[in-house]
Amino acid sequence: MSEPTNESQIEQRDAAIGKLAARLGVRAERGRRFAELTSLRVGGSIDWVISPETEAQAAGVVHALGEAGIGWRALGSGSNVLADDCEHHYVVLSLKDLKGEVHFDGQLVQVSAGYSLPRLCVDVARQGLSGIEGLGGIPGTVGGALWMNAGAYEHEIGKVTETVRVARGGQVVEIRGSTVQWNYRHASFAEGELLLGAVLRLQPDDPEKILARMEEAKSRRMATQPHGGRSAGCFFKNPPESSVGTGKIIDEMGMKGARRGTAVVSPVHANFIVTEGENARAEDALALAEEIRERVKREQGIELEYEVELWRSNGPPKRDPDVPE
Ligand SMILES: Cc1cc2nc3c(=O)[nH]c(=O)nc-3n(C[C@H](O)[C@H](O)[C@H](O)COP(=O)(O)OP(=O)(O)OC[C@H]3O[C@@H](n4cnc5c(N)ncnc54)[C@H](O)[C@@H]3O)c2cc1C
Repeated sequence: MSEPTNESQIEQRDAAIGKLAARLGVRAERGRRFAELTSLRVGGSIDWVISPETEAQAAGVVHALGEAGIGWRALGSGSNVLADDCEHHYVVLSLKDLKGEVHFDGQLVQVSAGYSLPRLCVDVARQGLSGIEGLGGIPGTVGGALWMNAGAYEHEIGKVTETVRVARGGQVVEIRGSTVQWNYRHASFAEGELLLGAVLRLQPDDPEKILARMEEAKSRRMATQPHGGRSAGCFFKNPPESSVGTGKIIDEMGMKGARRGTAVVSPVHANFIVTEGENARAEDALALAEEIRERVKREQGIELEYEVELWRSNGPPKRDPDVPE
C-alpha cells in the first residue's frame, strides 16, 4: 500500500487515522519506536501505532485503513521481528491489547490473537489439556505463533488449530485450520491477512503430567539458549539439506561471540543474535547476520534462510545526534 510522500498527503493520512480511531474507539499513538516494541530492542520510529482491544475493533480498523489506502503491519510481542533503524511510514497494528478471555469447551480452547502464548500454555495445562506444552517458553502472542506456525519440542501450533478467526471486509470470519498449510515456521495465510484468534483442539491428560513436561521443555531451553538477553530466537531456519542444525553449523565455524558493533552471536547458542546497550542498532544485527550467511554459503555451500522477519523501510535513517556513528 502507498506511503504518503509529501506534507499534504501526510496531513490527510493523519486526519483519516485520527477520525477512524475516534469512530472505532481505539488507541492510536505517535512517537513509538520498534526499539520499544520488539524483543531485539532495536529499530526506528513508527508513524502510528494502533491498539485494538476487541476482535471486532481490529477487523474494523484494517478495513478502514484499507479503504483509506493506508499501509499497516500486524505486530504481536515483536519477538520474531528485526525492524531497521529508519523511519517506518506505516501503521503498526499492535495486537497485544487484544487479549480477551480464554474460553474452554471440553477439548476446545478459544483464544484471541493478542493473548500471551506462554500464559495460554499454563492455562490449558491447568485445565488438563495437552498438545502445546512444548511451546511454553516461546515469548510471543497467539497471533504471532499462528502466523509463524511456532513450534518447539515436538509441538507445533498448526497441528492443534481447529479454526482461525481472520478479518475480512470489516468482519470477523472463521476459517478451518485444515485449509491452512502449516509448514516449518510458516503458515500459508495471505500477505495482509489479520489473524484475530483461534480455536485449538487439545487432548485431555493429567495436569500434573502436562505441567511437568512443560517444565522439562523450559529447563532444556534454559540450558541451551540465552535467556534474559535481547534476541529474536533462532535467526535462521535449519537448512533442509543438512542433517546438522544451523546453530551447530555457525558454532563449528567458530562464530560464537562474533560481534558487529552492538550485536553479538550468542556464546550460548550460535543461531541467536543478541543486542547490547541502550543504543543498539538493527544495522549491526543485520550486518552480523549477513556475515554469517556469507560465511555459511562460502564454506558450506548452504544458503541460510531467515527465520526472523526483516522489516525494512525506505525512509532515511533517523540518527540520534548524541550517538556516535
Ligand atoms: C528467546 C526466544 C525464543 C524463541 N523460541 C522459539 C521457538 O522455540 N519456536 C518458535 O517457533 N519461535 C521461537 N521464537 C520466535 C518467536 O517468539 C515466535 O515466532 C513467536 O510465535 C512470535 O510471536 P510474536 O507475537 O512475538 O510475533 P511478532 O514477532 O510480533 O510477529 C511475527 C510475525 O507474525 C505476524 N503477526 C503477529 N501477529 C499477527 C496477527 N494477529 N495477524 C497477522 N499477523 C501477525 C507479524 O506481522 C510478523 O510477520 C523465539 C523468540 C525468542 C525471543
